[in-house]
Amino acid sequence: MTTTGPRRETGAPTGRTFERSRILGIAASDLTPGGVHSNIRLAEQPFPLFFDSASGAHLRDVDGNDVIDYVMGMGPMLLGHRPKAVIDAVIDQLGRGILFAGQHELEIEAAEQLTRLIPCAERVRFNVTGTEAVQAAIRMARAATGRQKIVKFQGHYDGWADSVLVNVSSRGHKVGPGRLAAVSETLGAEQAVLGDVIIGEWNDALGLESIFSDHASSIAGVLMEPVMANNGVILPRDGYLQRVRELCTDHGAILIFDEVITGFRVGAGGAQQRFGVVPDVATFGKAIASGFPVAAVAGRRGLFDPIADGRVTHAGTYNSSAVGLAAAVTTMDILSDPGAGIYETLASRGGQLMAGIREVIAAHSAALHVQGLPMLFSIAFTTALAIRNHAEAATSDAAALQRFRACLAEQGVRIAAKGTWFLSIAHTDDDIGRTVDAVDRALTTFERA
Ligand code: PMP
Repeated sequence: MTTTGPRRETGAPTGRTFERSRILGIAASDLTPGGVHSNIRLAEQPFPLFFDSASGAHLRDVDGNDVIDYVMGMGPMLLGHRPKAVIDAVIDQLGRGILFAGQHELEIEAAEQLTRLIPCAERVRFNVTGTEAVQAAIRMARAATGRQKIVKFQGHYDGWADSVLVNVSSRGHKVGPGRLAAVSETLGAEQAVLGDVIIGEWNDALGLESIFSDHASSIAGVLMEPVMANNGVILPRDGYLQRVRELCTDHGAILIFDEVITGFRVGAGGAQQRFGVVPDVATFGKAIASGFPVAAVAGRRGLFDPIADGRVTHAGTYNSSAVGLAAAVTTMDILSDPGAGIYETLASRGGQLMAGIREVIAAHSAALHVQGLPMLFSIAFTTALAIRNHAEAATSDAAALQRFRACLAEQGVRIAAKGTWFLSIAHTDDDIGRTVDAVDRALTTFERA
């Protein structure tokens, strides 16, 4: 990394080719729609690549290119790719059993860790995906209140189930004070569910007050990412989460924090600990198990009573698999070990990276904006000084972002589709320095194109 300020790089071609990925992509597309197994991967730049191996903060693609990865499995790999302690625990567990369809002691250990770390967590159920955990939380909210409607926010992603795959990218028009029309993001969705979702603009406390004054008696729960992280990274305004908490308490609605991204990433106790606002129930996934498919719904004791006595169904063949929980227990052990200094490391390396990128941007006079937290931040092409909600995010130049992602990929740096950077403790000072230089070169090629 340059120590005397950013160097203007030449942006010369790197000679990287993606030929084998391209050929494999053609073969895959014949067998698999789009050649990918999750639609988010369709947006990969320069096109969906094939990877051969991963280690620390690096990926190696099938063309032999080394890539500094800031996608990190879309968030899970907070400890880096293939963290040794997690792999050792998993190998040990593989020798004793994979899936018992019965109880095992790791379930208690993992639940104890969660309830110790997460402020709202008095009880826990494990799932495989964040999508399922969110559905469980919604069901719990409806069962507890006897009400139907869920408030969800424009621009938030809470999984791909019909009831929440609404207003993620597509904006609804205004239909009332603080309220937008619900728009499904997918063909083939059940349309009836749209009647039970109320869409608000996030970070707008007055808007939520209006929604409550119009619909209080029918609102079962308010569901939100406590840091909006699926359309760029947007932090809650000062006092916003506190006000949401008060409104839910006053109106008897269940506050659900979807911490699938923020959980274990923005702190060992998630965003609820970082911002000091405790929801009634929260969902976790991603960083909880270092890439093994584990998710959790955790919350107030009483909300789980109808699950305990079977009135609310919560199920899943792969829930609490022994292998997944071995990974989760070891991951949570590491994350919660004060001696490991995970969050200090993330804060200092991420801070260094954000500062380095900002210096390069200033040297280029580029209209590229960086915001978020050191372990979770995003870039957007805009002249705005801050992006505070989806409406503002939507005014940034999305096409320019995709072109720039392709320039970054050409320089060996991979970031997530919406311009999001997921840091890990495996990103070294050297990785950060090389990344900042790569951003410099990528901006040069971007500006020339
Ligand atoms: N909630 C949030 C905030 C997410 O970011 C995601 C996934 N990106 C989900 C829920 C769904 O999780 P999964 O992909 O594991 O179903």
